Amino acid sequence: MMADERFDGGPRSAIVVGAGIVGLSTAWFLQERGVAVTVVDRRGIAAGASWGNAGWVSPALTIPLNHPSALAHGLRSLTDPAAPLHVPARFDVGLWAFLARFAANCRRSAWDRAASANVPFNAECLEAFDVLTGNGVDAPTTDGPITALFATERDAAHLIDELEGLRRVGQPLRYRTLEGPSLRDAAPLASDDVALGVSVEDQRFVDPGRFTHALAQAVADRGGSIRTATVLDVRPSGHGVRVDVDGADPLTADAAVIATGAWLSRLASRWVRTPVRAGRGYSFTVPVNRPVPGPLYLPEARVACTPYRGGLRVAGTMEFRGPDEPGEPARLDAIVAAATPLLGGVRWTERTDEWVGPRPVTTDGRPLIGEVAAGVFVAGGHGMWGLAHGPITGRLLTEQITTGKQPAALWTVDPLR
Ligand SMILES: Cc1cc2nc3c(=O)[nH]c(=O)nc-3n(C[C@H](O)[C@H](O)[C@H](O)COP(=O)(O)OP(=O)(O)OC[C@H]3O[C@@H](n4cnc5c(N)ncnc54)[C@H](O)[C@@H]3O)c2cc1C
Repeated sequence: MMADERFDGGPRSAIVVGAGIVGLSTAWFLQERGVAVTVVDRRGIAAGASWGNAGWVSPALTIPLNHPSALAHGLRSLTDPAAPLHVPARFDVGLWAFLARFAANCRRSAWDRAASANVPFNAECLEAFDVLTGNGVDAPTTDGPITALFATERDAAHLIDELEGLRRVGQPLRYRTLEGPSLRDAAPLASDDVALGVSVEDQRFVDPGRFTHALAQAVADRGGSIRTATVLDVRPSGHGVRVDVDGADPLTADAAVIATGAWLSRLASRWVRTPVRAGRGYSFTVPVNRPVPGPLYLPEARVACTPYRGGLRVAGTMEFRGPDEPGEPARLDAIVAAATPLLGGVRWTERTDEWVGPRPVTTDGRPLIGEVAAGVFVAGGHGMWGLAHGPITGRLLTEQITTGKQPAALWTVDPLR
């Protein structure tokens, strides 16, 4: 592809590195503006976190990770190998430097800043999904509440505090508490140990792997090229950009977007000082003996459950290991042990689709979206909420790439902060 100037000054061609929800959404919205796109991924479509996640498109639950309580929780988990948060005891200077910066951001003011940064994304995230599905992305999205389950009222207080924190920074949301028959109707899988539910209204869920593949198909149907190759370097070159690819000639275009999820720092660290690390999560699918009307959230166990292909996808854990390290079976057992007391009618021993994937976590709880050098953009670091915010990220970044103007929603997530 040749770098080429357009008479209005916007790019005519772009290379997007990373075929996850963020990269493919950006490619799709760039195509809307007439930009020819090439998407390059080292392993193919949805090869990273975009495959096995919980599939929640849940604006009212985009709670940043760096809550003040995360610090105490993190310290406790260092001595408990079955805790939902896991940091391997090893000498890794980069990891400990990352965790020290993350810990410094576990303050109410930093949490408020991260939560406020999400508000404009939340305002349009459902609509961005509708734009995709209304224009050729052939995958369903399902509306409904997400029901959180608790053994005691005291356990529920923490989630309610977080929801009220989101409301305080301007996030509209609705929730109601459930008890007795209304709780059992909303969550037939709730065990006898569950005393209280909190139903967070007006959310959505998708099958994330199916959605990401449908998005890739739509990009290809509109003339985009999707290639499997490892990108070694991205940099400005002449009037455009040059992308070095392992085992092939370099690619050139007018613009490039680095959307490589938990691997983002490898290509972007020469410009971006905020590091991205893999906060790995695990998921699996289990058959169930009772209906699952919608997603279930077990905040105390840090587990998210979603109706999935006739069964239940169960996702959880935050483990700070490298994104390419093999999965640890003990983490899956820890999820089962934590979720079992709160759920009944789940056939835990028949689990399939075991998966580990890297959430792209930043030290300040905010994503990194915007221009880092002439013609070079990054889009990533969405942590727990990259599926929900992937399409709207693509739309906002496309606005910046094609007009040269940074939308207000991207000010606080500027990657050069
Ligand atoms: C267990 C779990 C549950 C989750 N649940 C939810 C949820 O319910 N809702 C939600 O909103 N979010 C959820 N998330 C988070 C969400 O999955 C991520 O934030 C999101 O998928 C990130 O998308 P991405 O496109 O940035 O990264 P990825 O999907 O990881 O894509 C990055 C891509 O870049 C490619 N790549 C990397 N390096 C290179 C290179 N050098 N050259 C070429 N290609 C490269 C990779 O192969 C990969 O395909 C969850 C995550 C986990 C782990």
